Amino acid sequence: MAFPENARISLDIEDIPKRWYNLAADIPKLQPPLNPVTKEPAKPEDFAPIFCKTIIQQEASTERYIDIPEEVRDGLIALNRPSPLQRAFRLEKYLKTPARIYFKREDLSPLGSHKGNTALAQAYYNAEAGIHTLTTETGAGQWGTALAMVSNLYDIKSTIFMVKGSFEAKPLRTTIINTYGGTVYASPSEYTEFGKKVLKEHPDTSGSLGIAISEACEMATKDDGTCYALGSVMNHVMLHQTVIGLELQKQLEAGEIEPDCLIACVGGGSNFGGFTFPFIGDRLRGKKSDCEIIAVEPKAAPSLTEGDFRYDYGDTAGMTPLLMMYTLGSSYIPPSIHAGGLRYHGMAPLVSAAYDQGFVKAVSYDQTETFAAGVLMARTEGIIPAPESCHALKAAIDKALECKKTGEAKNIVFNLSGHGLLDLYGYEQYLNGTLPSSDL
Ligand SMILES: *Cc1c(COP(=O)(O)O)cnc(C)c1O
Repeated sequence: MAFPENARISLDIEDIPKRWYNLAADIPKLQPPLNPVTKEPAKPEDFAPIFCKTIIQQEASTERYIDIPEEVRDGLIALNRPSPLQRAFRLEKYLKTPARIYFKREDLSPLGSHKGNTALAQAYYNAEAGIHTLTTETGAGQWGTALAMVSNLYDIKSTIFMVKGSFEAKPLRTTIINTYGGTVYASPSEYTEFGKKVLKEHPDTSGSLGIAISEACEMATKDDGTCYALGSVMNHVMLHQTVIGLELQKQLEAGEIEPDCLIACVGGGSNFGGFTFPFIGDRLRGKKSDCEIIAVEPKAAPSLTEGDFRYDYGDTAGMTPLLMMYTLGSSYIPPSIHAGGLRYHGMAPLVSAAYDQGFVKAVSYDQTETFAAGVLMARTEGIIPAPESCHALKAAIDKALECKKTGEAKNIVFNLSGHGLLDLYGYEQYLNGTLPSSDL
């Protein structure tokens, strides 16, 4: 039996990228972050209470390529990099589409998602700067898990504020974070002034990412040896995630595949940015391409498709710098959905700029449609995608069905940002017919 063409394209360990790609070097009209008090462009010292020096430099950098430290590349091996590019030929067959569907397997990281790519770099630079504790927020739990694990490698402690709704709905996430040695608090908590204030005003709140970010930042501000680590949105996070797209470029070249669509889900924008920025950069530097680049968001938090492009806070308390981004408003608390990683009011400034300038299209889906896509992937490919990744998958399936109508054999490539084995409750609800719609 002949294997289908390009059934799986793997790279060697030596192919782990040696440098990250920085879209800020090529994209025009990028607006700087503003100091939340003076509303003037933020200075490096404005970030000093929460970030270490190298992270601050990377945040503001306009260098096109930044070297990946050897130790970080070593760590990426443990996260199963380079990740394979696989062809979903059984899904293609089920759909009876002439299109070819490929997916990049970020689900194969032992941490379950792409989040480790930046966690590793951030822990490395903070350890180098002598930081003993990192604080952070986590929604669905993927980011908290990744940061807790990699902190061990550099002898750093981690304190994680987990959105209360998720903390209560996903007790096993807490167990995983504790197994990795992290400390987890349900947010809002009694451990910060802001947490106490929210609890007093709204004792029954299920929390939000915006509130958890405020708590993590407050704790980092109060101690010199403690810094804050963010899992998405900011430029340095997008930078670290470009290992995904740089590997993908090599794989497409090796398989002689010209992509017609690149698709990823967007919460804060980091897996999407990492997956697509090297391609957007090529285009900005003059490469001609008809490839569509599609960002997929949930109907519950549609910042690109329904938000405004303006300066807004990254958190609820208004402690973070103001970022120029597509936003639903920093006080907006998205309805509870299983794709907790997509439940954010804003969008990375770099992704927002690329969208504003027409390099990116956006679509949104209700969670009932995305879980249906996830079940199809499970039954054809054996993979249960994370609820977030189901959004990208759903868009890829819709593209493939369009191709069935037009008879075009397009190459559709999507990012499988994580697996869903810790999010089975959403699948259970879908299967027994109790999954609520997430429509606004
Ligand atoms: C966190 C997460 C997302 C959303 O975050 P981005 O920064 O937009 O990538 C998507 N998929 C998975 C599996 C996640 O854990």
